[in-house]
Amino acid sequence: MTRKIIHVDMDAFYASVELRENPSLQGKPVVVAWDSARSVICAASYEARKYGLRSAMSVAKARQLCPQAIYIPPNFDLYRSVSRQVRSVFECYTNKIEPLSLDEAYLDVTSNFKNLPSATEVANAIRADIFSLTGLTASAGVAPNKFLAKIASDWRKPNGIFVISPAKVQAFLAPLPLQKIPGVGKVTLAKFHQLGMFTVSDLLGFNDAELAYHFGKFGYRLYQLARGVDERPVESNQPAQQISTETTFEEDILFEQIEAFLAALCAKLWVQLLKKKKFGCTVTLKLKTNTFRIITRSKTFSVPLHSQVHLLQAGLSLLERVDEDLKNHQFRLVGIGVSHFPEDRQGGMQLSLL
Ligand SMILES: [Mg+2]
Repeated sequence: MTRKIIHVDMDAFYASVELRENPSLQGKPVVVAWDSARSVICAASYEARKYGLRSAMSVAKARQLCPQAIYIPPNFDLYRSVSRQVRSVFECYTNKIEPLSLDEAYLDVTSNFKNLPSATEVANAIRADIFSLTGLTASAGVAPNKFLAKIASDWRKPNGIFVISPAKVQAFLAPLPLQKIPGVGKVTLAKFHQLGMFTVSDLLGFNDAELAYHFGKFGYRLYQLARGVDERPVESNQPAQQISTETTFEEDILFEQIEAFLAALCAKLWVQLLKKKKFGCTVTLKLKTNTFRIITRSKTFSVPLHSQVHLLQAGLSLLERVDEDLKNHQFRLVGIGVSHFPEDRQGGMQLSLL
């Protein structure tokens, strides 16, 4: 049976909330960020985007592009409360809700509480309800699966809706530039181009083994996505999240060598955090000895980490907390992770908010 999936994405969410709170900011380039050269933009208003400002851009760069931008420090308590309101709208239509962050969620409305006949009607009703309840606009993508719904929600932004009906999936996908596929970053894109692939239709000429040869496990997924296939269900109960990265060494290393690897790990992790727009308060260092003993050290800050330097400093200070007698061991793995994302907190529940 064909599913009906909606991806709802609030438009420039944090910035839009700030504009709503302070109408004198309307029409001005507004940036939600900690105003320090080392921090990054959490959200940029549409006016600020005209100057090229984007979320995850460094504040240092943003200052060059748009010196007159107005900086507002993030108020996650406020965004959380608005996010709860938005969620309450979703709950009038379905209980299959998978939040991705404070401002985005997948909904499965194959059957919906209001018995609306089409997912398009559900999506439009939800957008109208969100606007009347919060004064904020949302965009929606409607499609038979999560992969397509997510791409579609971006298609008519802001305050728009785009529908990919099952019959139109192939026609939509064929000319789609490959960088629109979630999970395709710069490295994968460069590889596509080397192989002469630019759009999804170029993928169709390769079988799954060929794609796996070039792209590893992701190749199998590409084979499916190129054909519009994505069976992932909308998952309502997401466990508490940690975003992390780790390296296992071919040859065990000494304690003194860990520091050198930590910088590269932090750089890699920081890119992941920026991509996901997740700024957590807790940093965890994980080490595994050559005898498979696992050592972890954690540190929680009162505000989320907002720079790569901050992350590395935290990692190094955790390294100092490793007991002296453990320092004689050899190590086979080093990992670093971030958790406790303030935007995910909701009372005592370990659920994301929206
Ligand atoms: Mg958004």
